Amino acid sequence: MLDADTLTQWDLNHVWHPFTQQTEWEADAPPLIIDRAEGVELIDVHGRRYLDGISSLWTNVHGHRHPRIDAAVRDQLDRVAHSTLLGQAGTPSIVLAKRLADLLERIPGDQPPLTRTFFSDSGSTAVEVAIKMAFQWQQQSGNTNRTRFAALTEAYHGDTVGSVSVGGIDLFHQIYRPMLFDAIRIPAPDRPDPEAEEACLKIARQQFATHGASLAGFIVEPLVQGAGGMRMHSPAFLRALIDIAQQAGALIIVDEVATGFGRTGTMFAMEQVGVRPDLLCLAKGISGGYLPLAATVVSERIFDAFRAPYTQYKTLFHGHTYTGNALACAASLASLDVFEENDVIGSLPDRISALSEALASLPSSHIAETRQRGMMAGAVLRHDRSPEDRTGHKICMRVRNHGVIVRNLGDVMVFMPPLAMTPAQILSVGRAVGAAITEELG
Ligand SMILES: *Cc1c(COP(=O)(O)O)cnc(C)c1O
Repeated sequence: MLDADTLTQWDLNHVWHPFTQQTEWEADAPPLIIDRAEGVELIDVHGRRYLDGISSLWTNVHGHRHPRIDAAVRDQLDRVAHSTLLGQAGTPSIVLAKRLADLLERIPGDQPPLTRTFFSDSGSTAVEVAIKMAFQWQQQSGNTNRTRFAALTEAYHGDTVGSVSVGGIDLFHQIYRPMLFDAIRIPAPDRPDPEAEEACLKIARQQFATHGASLAGFIVEPLVQGAGGMRMHSPAFLRALIDIAQQAGALIIVDEVATGFGRTGTMFAMEQVGVRPDLLCLAKGISGGYLPLAATVVSERIFDAFRAPYTQYKTLFHGHTYTGNALACAASLASLDVFEENDVIGSLPDRISALSEALASLPSSHIAETRQRGMMAGAVLRHDRSPEDRTGHKICMRVRNHGVIVRNLGDVMVFMPPLAMTPAQILSVGRAVGAAITEELG
């Protein structure tokens, strides 16, 4: 194996890290280089172990190197790693599409069920596809004026041009502004406070009254706006918003890329809302955190507008090369097996309480507020430093010395443990973050 110094040098010379200011990366060097993993622990090139407090960026579900998923991927490898879905089908993607349709029946609601899956490979592409589908559906349903989208403030839907356009985080937007399309902005509260929610709904009613007739769709992260800083709203707020959007004739696109697969305490956040969207985006946890995979799942009502003789050109002209990748679908199917066999959702309440306890254990004089929905949580730092001080980032770097990996969103310390993390391990993550906060802020 290559030694750590060589790897460090090659990383600094050749890798461009995502969402990373490389001058800061160089100043923080040597980087943490992960070499392997065991359960919910990542192991670096020096053999040091770290609890994976952010599920390898919100993806890992049952822990790393889970025997069941490892075996499924190896088994699929003995058949075929990848074959295209353009002009042909593949066994694991067929089975997964059927399995998702069955699974999504657990979202209650009078709306038609979500039965049709379009596969892609990231959350951004799942959203990009949903936006194009909604636009084209309106065009092909005779609503040619419906060309715009509504979305929440501080929303995050991915990094491709369309998904950034519906996103609402100014920091990610500013420079790209001239190349983005304009979305109608609906204000969202940062916590489920009834008064704040009613104020937002009031503006939403005005916005939809003014722009409703031009809307193709309304897109939303259900219950938790993740990358926006773990901002939370109530199921009732989302039900009311969706109702307003539906009255205005907009298609409902729900982005469960972060919330899907048990994150909020139920398999899907929309189970708590009780509404079936027209289009649903899934990624992150869908493959158990193993391989890039995403799904845009829609009802037959959406799909039917794309069916016609070829020469009417109603085809969805969109597809990604690795769509429906066999290894990724096999990992996903095995992950769903683990959910069932281990009753993962049933095991969550104890872990969710441990996460609440971990949040409560943080040094309160440095915490302005904590927010939690299921296994997603954030603690907002209180300090009088300027954002240029990068306080959250500095704390995350210190947390590593305590054998834990977490990542901040500005002043929000994020807690996103794998669903498999034990209550004791979750409390350790809390202790490590608490210690690092005290070291940094006194
Ligand atoms: C992470 C995320 C995305 C983007 O997913 P990528 O796989 O990073 O492209 C989209 N929407 C939400 C809600 C997310 O949390």
